[in-house]
Amino acid sequence: MSKLVIVGTVAFDAIETPFGKTDKILGGAATFIGLAASQFEVDGAIVSVVGGDFPKEYIAMLENKGLDVSSLEVVKDGKTFFWSGKYSHDMNTRDTLVTDLNVLADFNPIVPENYKDAEVVMLGNLHPLVQLSVIEQMNKKPALVILDTMNFWMDSALDDLMKVIAKVDVITINDEEARQLTGEYSLVVAAKKIMTMGPKYVVIKKGEHGALMFYQDEMFYAPALPLEEVFDPTGAGDTFAGGFAGYLAKTGDYSFGNLKKAIIYGSALASFCVEKFGTERMVNLDKDELFKRILQFKSLTQFDLD
Ligand code: AMP
Repeated sequence: MSKLVIVGTVAFDAIETPFGKTDKILGGAATFIGLAASQFEVDGAIVSVVGGDFPKEYIAMLENKGLDVSSLEVVKDGKTFFWSGKYSHDMNTRDTLVTDLNVLADFNPIVPENYKDAEVVMLGNLHPLVQLSVIEQMNKKPALVILDTMNFWMDSALDDLMKVIAKVDVITINDEEARQLTGEYSLVVAAKKIMTMGPKYVVIKKGEHGALMFYQDEMFYAPALPLEEVFDPTGAGDTFAGGFAGYLAKTGDYSFGNLKKAIIYGSALASFCVEKFGTERMVNLDKDELFKRILQFKSLTQFDLD
């Protein structure tokens, strides 16, 4: 099994969907990534920062999932990153209402000494300079560096983001962001353009319409599982990325064939994430449920040709 470094926000989220509203619950990219990756019992460390207002029980919960939290810095007199979003009726689009960087504004990430040789690095959503610093601290070139980002950083720190994109093997972004980054409408053309920026693999997330992975001239499509109940899509993208990274760290196989399997695991995990508000479903997920859902994914698109 390989080691996995996870960087990203650990946050408070306030979410509004057509099905309800929450006040300051546990969220953050690294939280969702860590919870998803922990399904594979990987040796993973979270590199992030929270304020003194962050409940100790949340940190204990992450630790109980087997994640190393020694580099989850607590700034006693600071406030935790806060994000608030509101989803449209079809839940495919959302408006960000608040992004308060708080302690994230001056965060200097420190990769734990025993993770500086990790094979897999998952750069979850946060400031590109923090992501860059994590890459630079690795004392051995990782087998796979995966980047997730969002339009917020394209709007506010594009130059820094381009420096990170140049250094990663895989990028995961949603369709709208791929179009924003490249100015191309066709996702095939957009993916090809992104490959010239650095990544060998481009994964484009399309929400309830699944995900596409591009590699050289090849393309792979993973559907999203049609669900009866979707309460809150928050964290689905991070959960997808965490499942993807966790599966690859667990198997240590970084071939295109195995990346396809990783996409299915990521999609299956994301399908759980949306069933409850925030992290609730992911905190309580067990391996049997995941296995059954992987089989559902298999039968969803399997057919025989005469
Ligand atoms: P997702 O739904 O997968 O895009 O991720 C939602 C999570 O990302 C929430 O839990 C937020 O706390 C976190 N988040 C929102 N905006 C940002 C941002 N600008 N940088 C880092 N994390 C963010």
